[in-house]
Amino acid sequence: MSEKENVVDNIILDGSTKIEQAGSTGLVLFSTLRSDAKPILQHDNVSVEGVDYPKLFSAKCAICNSPLRELLEHVYIDCGKKVNPVIIFFEKHYGAKLNFAQVKQHVNYHCDFNKIEISGLKSYEGKGEEFARWKYREYELALNVVLSEIDNIGGKSTRTLDDSFKKASILEKLNKQLMMIKQQRDDSTLGLPNIFEVLHDLHEKLLHEDDRRIVRETANELRKIIS
Ligand SMILES: [Zn+2]
Repeated sequence: MSEKENVVDNIILDGSTKIEQAGSTGLVLFSTLRSDAKPILQHDNVSVEGVDYPKLFSAKCAICNSPLRELLEHVYIDCGKKVNPVIIFFEKHYGAKLNFAQVKQHVNYHCDFNKIEISGLKSYEGKGEEFARWKYREYELALNVVLSEIDNIGGKSTRTLDDSFKKASILEKLNKQLMMIKQQRDDSTLGLPNIFEVLHDLHEKLLHEDDRRIVRETANELRKIIS
């Protein structure tokens, strides 16, 4: 069997597609893949929904011109923005050849992955199991979310006085939220960790005296509410 027939056997292409040989590897060039190119190996784990970022177009770039451009970019994002897994993906699933420099050029200059926007739904993907763990423990989850937010904001350094006030006011709001959640939790029948222990742990984690003071005040306010 000739090499050309090998390629045809390996990949189902539209009849009018010009098959170009990419050296003696038995692979077709990525640029020859049409939008209806059928994978030789099924892949259903690359999601192209819910992720958005600015895309540029270069007429000279084979990837920009390819109908599989978006799939390639999502494989790139999914694998942690590495070029080699992209090359391997297309070899394995489409019997198609890409070269490193070509992919690098495209992902570096024709897409702006620094501005990736992930819709709320995309970020929930694959988290069913994680959420299941929290079922019936929603107050605990909410408490953890607010606490980690407080921790996160509390750990941020501020440059100006204005920023310090903003930070303090955010922390105060978060602490109020914390108290609300606590109240709601107490109204429910769920047995959850002691809020004072939680606040104490948080207090010990915070680095700045201002933040620690807010947590102490919150604990005092809480004590007044429940005493
Ligand atoms: Zn490109």
